[in-house]
Amino acid sequence: MDRYAVIGNPISHSKSPRIHSLFAAQTGQDLVYEALLGPIEAFAATVEAFRAAGGRGLNVTVPFKLEAFDLADRHTPRALAAGAVNTLAFDVDGILGDNTDGAGILRDISVNQGCPVAGRRVLLLGAGGAARGTVLPLLEAAPASLVIANRTASKAAGLADEFTRSGPLRPLGCGFAELAGQRFDVVINATSASLSDAAPDLPDGLYAPGSLAYDMMYGKGDTPFMRAAREQGAARLSDGLGMLVEQAAESFLLWRGVRPDTAPVLAQLRAGL
Ligand code: NDP
Repeated sequence: MDRYAVIGNPISHSKSPRIHSLFAAQTGQDLVYEALLGPIEAFAATVEAFRAAGGRGLNVTVPFKLEAFDLADRHTPRALAAGAVNTLAFDVDGILGDNTDGAGILRDISVNQGCPVAGRRVLLLGAGGAARGTVLPLLEAAPASLVIANRTASKAAGLADEFTRSGPLRPLGCGFAELAGQRFDVVINATSASLSDAAPDLPDGLYAPGSLAYDMMYGKGDTPFMRAAREQGAARLSDGLGMLVEQAAESFLLWRGVRPDTAPVLAQLRAGL
């Protein structure tokens, strides 16, 4: 059987083995998918050992996405734009590095939430790894505008500057206070604030009628960001469980050439939260 795994540290909490096992059963693909604890000082050696033992590909999670980028021999355009890799594929030409996080969130928003980004005013909160991986797929979806806002404003400005030549739309970068007076149709929380049970400190009145508030974080019930967005009048709310399943589906497609149906897998995961 072909072997795949997710590598991270810690890793025991990962839902990826369950997601990929469900995908494999659904599509009739003969594979095993494990969780691999990567020693902090020995990421590359652990990947090489997995590959030498016949492994075909890896998902990569915290804290190894930058090391995975460095380890890859070739990169997809979206991995180059993200500067980080969450998917490795091993073939005769070496190691291909991809980043499926951005495609995952875009598909969750546009297909699962039924909220196409084209022509919408989009606000991306955060300037860390998850935000970085989302900028190119967002720009490719042709929003009316894209503002990147971060607690540390200079990081948002720097991230926006990196994408000024990616296409006709120039993203703008700023701090949270500078958002006052603006309105958005889609607001994506790519900060890690929810991890400390907090919501980003945003000005009032950001949500346009019919707007979607999307938190990359997920869990049982609403996140602090979702609660704050509801109070501020966001019409629709979503956490990031769909993003998790969709980025996995994108990796599965890269490895196996088959796109699984994510809806039943997402429903099973949601029921198990
Ligand atoms: P990083 O550590 O790279 O970045 C953290 C970001 O959050 C920075 O922009 C930081 O701002 C900001 N931040 C942290 N605390 C606060 C706060 N209290 N208020 C406002 N901003 C804050 O994290 P990642 O980009 O890797 O991850 C971000 C989130 O996305 C996490 O919650 C993660 O779980 C989630 N995620 C979900 C995925 C999914 O599949 N659903 C996939 C990947 C990530 P500053 O620069 O000022 O420090």
